[in-house]
Amino acid sequence: MGQGSITRRYRFCAAHRLHTDHLSAEENRVVFGKCNNPNGHGHNYVVLVTIGGPGAARAGQTMDLDALDRVVAERIVSRFDHRDLNQDPEFAVRTTTGENLVLLIWDLLVTQVPGGQLKKVAVIETRDNYFEYTGSASVAARS
Ligand SMILES: [Zn+2]
Repeated sequence: MGQGSITRRYRFCAAHRLHTDHLSAEENRVVFGKCNNPNGHGHNYVVLVTIGGPGAARAGQTMDLDALDRVVAERIVSRFDHRDLNQDPEFAVRTTTGENLVLLIWDLLVTQVPGGQLKKVAVIETRDNYFEYTGSASVAARS
């Protein structure tokens, strides 16, 4: 059976600084380059949320998109928009890389989307940087 899916696009603006206390100041500069600037910098983040599943293309079988929009607004956009990501409690022990951000957004959404319908979360950080995560279960199911 084919699998349909739909992807919704969301946006938020946030600041961050790539820095880890596990490295020295010099090592941080080498690893993260200008993103380690102590004053931080901002991005216009784009979040792509894909939901779907077996038979999802048929009416009534995917999550209601208004409900998805509400979940993303409450769990993601209101949490991160016009904030400093480094101040978010989840980033107290993790660096605010795109890889970690897309994982966190997945974790914040996966319990809110019914029936394993969350298929993929992607974050566009800059013109050239794109991160995506499909969850360990769905990766296993594809192989
Ligand atoms: Zn950055």
